[in-house]
Amino acid sequence: MSRKQNRFKEYGIGTQAIHTGTDYDEETGAIRRPLHMANSYKLPDDLSNVNYSSTDLLMYSRNGNPNQHWLEEKVAALHNADDAIVLASGVAALHALFWTLLRTGDRVVYPKVSYMAVYRMFHELFNNKFGVETVMVDMTDIDAVRKAVTSGTKLVHIETPDNPTNGVSDIEAIVKIAHENGAVVSVDNTFASPYNQKPLEYGADFVVESLTKFINGHGDAQGGAIISNDLETMDRIRYEAQVNVGSVISPFNAWQIFRGSVTFPLRMQRINETALEIARWLESREHVTFVSYPGLESNKGHELAIRQMKNGFGGVISFGIDADDKAVERFCAALKIISFAVSLGHDESLIFPQPSYDERIELYPEIFRKGFIRFSVGLEESEDIIGDLDQALKSIGL
Ligand SMILES: *Cc1c(COP(=O)(O)O)cnc(C)c1O
Repeated sequence: MSRKQNRFKEYGIGTQAIHTGTDYDEETGAIRRPLHMANSYKLPDDLSNVNYSSTDLLMYSRNGNPNQHWLEEKVAALHNADDAIVLASGVAALHALFWTLLRTGDRVVYPKVSYMAVYRMFHELFNNKFGVETVMVDMTDIDAVRKAVTSGTKLVHIETPDNPTNGVSDIEAIVKIAHENGAVVSVDNTFASPYNQKPLEYGADFVVESLTKFINGHGDAQGGAIISNDLETMDRIRYEAQVNVGSVISPFNAWQIFRGSVTFPLRMQRINETALEIARWLESREHVTFVSYPGLESNKGHELAIRQMKNGFGGVISFGIDADDKAVERFCAALKIISFAVSLGHDESLIFPQPSYDERIELYPEIFRKGFIRFSVGLEESEDIIGDLDQALKSIGL
């Protein structure tokens, strides 16, 4: 894979989000990149050197497409990294990384609280299908991590803040333990986003982002990325998981995410501010049983979050209300501007209850086991969001 130099390296993230990956279109002079929906490209006249599993040549969309490549330039820039691979979804990116790195008999240490698909992959699939040894640990507890990461561990996977409880793990400290034991470290950075946290700066080997969330930011396209400076492994991921397993992103989705990402830093700045204001309001509201947000002084991970999350604490608030599962559903249904839907990082605020019968509820801290709600703060006016939460709480008698 030939990689483009980042011409805008000395500029701030707000400028890079606008300028990296884009240029004048050679044929028309258009100052926006075109959308290339073609799935095949003109082959060289002499085919003797063509490798059909390579990503070097534009040949077939699954081997890479121009819109994917332009988005890869931008996502790498957002992390000050040498390379990024953009795939069909965040989960496709997580899978591509794990699938490429792991073999039968390898040992993985993964977090007790993580994105659902990561839990499925390590609790159910990689262990049972492929004989990978998977060890679950509380990543927010550094002593527990030290015990779990024995020599011979291949991979330590971190998610911070974690989905859905917003627990904060110490990337730098975990990287130190992992590297001492010969393991590599991947960090799912979706909750923080590269505006707030760049795990490669703390020594992580790989970062995964769900582009579906804050980076696209408009809730209308799915994509995921792996970001790293380990170019040899990145080429293996392209060969093994993109070309030969097939998780490439469609040109249209790449084009849409590219467009959404232009305003990513600006949106994140606003979301950081609004989320902190709402988290503080929730903390002061009667009948709210807990608020987990790394930006709150009361939060267990606050000091660590200040060190690790440089620009803010992200757009997801985990909180509880004094209500049973049915009443929580009525609360969500009574909201007028906040949408009752899964996902996060959209322009609109989204709310999603985590019921007490959830399969993983026992893995969460005790307080999360009743009336637990995950709230993704959008770009609406904070006063309107607060008003909406307040009226819906009142509507169920709280
Ligand atoms: C949404 C999410 C993912 C998965 O991303 P998709 O684009 O939905 O596949 C992975 N990790 C975290 C933390 C997420 O929130």
